[in-house]
Amino acid sequence: MGINCLNILRRGLHTSSARLQVIQGATPTKRICIVGAGPAGFYAAQLILKQLDNCVVDVVEKLPVPFGLVRFGVAPDHPEVKNVINTFTKTAEHPRLRYFGNISLGTDVSLRELRDRYHAVLLTYGADQDRELELENEQQGNVISARKFVAWYNGLPGAENLAPDLSGRDVTIVGQGNVAVDVARMLLSPLDALKSTDTTEYALEALSRSQVERVHLVGRRGPLQAAFTIKELREMLKLPNVDTRWRSEDFSGIDLQLDKLQRPRKRLTELMLKSLKEQGRIAGSKQFLPIFLRAPKAISPGEMEFSVTELQQEAAVPTTSTERLSSHLILRSIGYKSSCVDTGISFDTRRGRVHNVDGRILKDDASGKVDPGLYVAGWLGTGPTGVIVTTMNGAFAVAKTICDDITTNAVDTSSAKPGYDADGQRVVTWDGWQRINDFECAAGKAKGKPREKIVNIEEMLRVAGV
Ligand code: FAD
Ligand code: NAP
Repeated sequence: MGINCLNILRRGLHTSSARLQVIQGATPTKRICIVGAGPAGFYAAQLILKQLDNCVVDVVEKLPVPFGLVRFGVAPDHPEVKNVINTFTKTAEHPRLRYFGNISLGTDVSLRELRDRYHAVLLTYGADQDRELELENEQQGNVISARKFVAWYNGLPGAENLAPDLSGRDVTIVGQGNVAVDVARMLLSPLDALKSTDTTEYALEALSRSQVERVHLVGRRGPLQAAFTIKELREMLKLPNVDTRWRSEDFSGIDLQLDKLQRPRKRLTELMLKSLKEQGRIAGSKQFLPIFLRAPKAISPGEMEFSVTELQQEAAVPTTSTERLSSHLILRSIGYKSSCVDTGISFDTRRGRVHNVDGRILKDDASGKVDPGLYVAGWLGTGPTGVIVTTMNGAFAVAKTICDDITTNAVDTSSAKPGYDADGQRVVTWDGWQRINDFECAAGKAKGKPREKIVNIEEMLRVAGV
């Protein structure tokens, strides 16, 4: 067969289910379903497709659009981080991968159905909830989660009506992780810097009317336990027109501990100390105010109360002293949490993740026995920590386990499995996503942005041609 014929065949097969027949050999095609098209899902698919010849990988994704938190979490002013999308796109275009967008586990399809239709199922549906402080008044209008705020500026369908109240001078962010710093940066960045990013148009409009001048970033522990990393702090310190103010008492004795610290922690601490020493030299009409050793205690209109804490073996222990911070808006940024979307999943409600040992899902926590053919990777399995590279390494390891279990017959692949039957469902294929992508990029180009995201599911489906 000539190269042209091969290419035509490949193109034709790419969009039709017929292509799957070609790869069937004497033994049944191994069918693997991955639930969730975020980094964990795509990295796992990449390794499985590389290691197993006679296999088909189907990716089932709740939203019409792929990429999970790379699209809806990573800050708009970090476009370089989103380059991983190019790798994911290459994986998605592999002739043995099919993308089923707009199909949600637990709503459109059950885990039982997927298990009947695949030899192995890998859950990578991430963490779509957030942890709560469990304080009275937490459900008040002036308290919102950082997760919702991030989803709002990043255009997650359903988040567009959040309407955060940016009419006050003081914002308090509870928690000092990188999500908290992302949110602080979005609130304090000059609008012009955001206009050329893929920040949603409605968020840019709301930020243009923002009266926010002071952002407190409050941690319950000390500078040596801060969860943000050096790159993110550096970006804050470089923000034009923003004066970073530390409290010198928070750093008492910290310099004496520098030599005992691991290198990344040491460099981060040195940067904080340098910034503390230089503070006041840069004038700015806005202020970034990191505050340590304060644990959330109470919420009341216009302010938040914190217990002053002391460190005991790195844990924050509240003292009887308190401090109140003027807080027109409070953003809770204390971590994400996964949810159990199907009753068939052995879920650890307390820790907010699926019970597993190295990615193999347990039948139940008590027996400790593995459920053959069922796996978990990404934040759903590890809990909501780590950057994309961490997620990648974890997903590669679980994908390798799946391949090993299949090749050693720990997973039964002797009988043929049909794969997902999408009949009657409004499925967005990879071609459908490409249409959305082209549409968004063209809409963004007209405004000098990399893309203008569609934020409405029906509109996504219309553009995808579904
Ligand atoms: P996700 O990315 O959440 O992917 C899960 C996918 O599953 C989603 O597409 C979701 O729609 C889908 N899904 C959910 N429910 C269902 C269902 N029922 N059925 C089917 N599909 C479903 N890391 C960096 O390296 N650099 C950064 O700058 C960075 N910024 C971040 C900013 C924020 C605000 C956050 C929260 C994280 C950031 N991270 C960053 C970390 C990074 O995003 C994670 O490591 C990574 O996204 C985790 O991947 P995942 O596949 O486990 O989950
Ligand atoms: P995180 O890094 O785990 O930080 C959570 C913060 O909340 C910590 O400061 C923690 O303090 C605090 N906290 C937790 N429970 C609390 C409570 N009950 N009361 C007060 N404070 C509490 O989580 P995250 O910021 O959501 O980030 C998740 C992951 O995504 C991280 O690995 C992060 O690096 C990654 N991420 C990376 C980037 C980037 O690379 N630019 C951007 C965003 C996110 P304690 O330490 O005291 O528990």
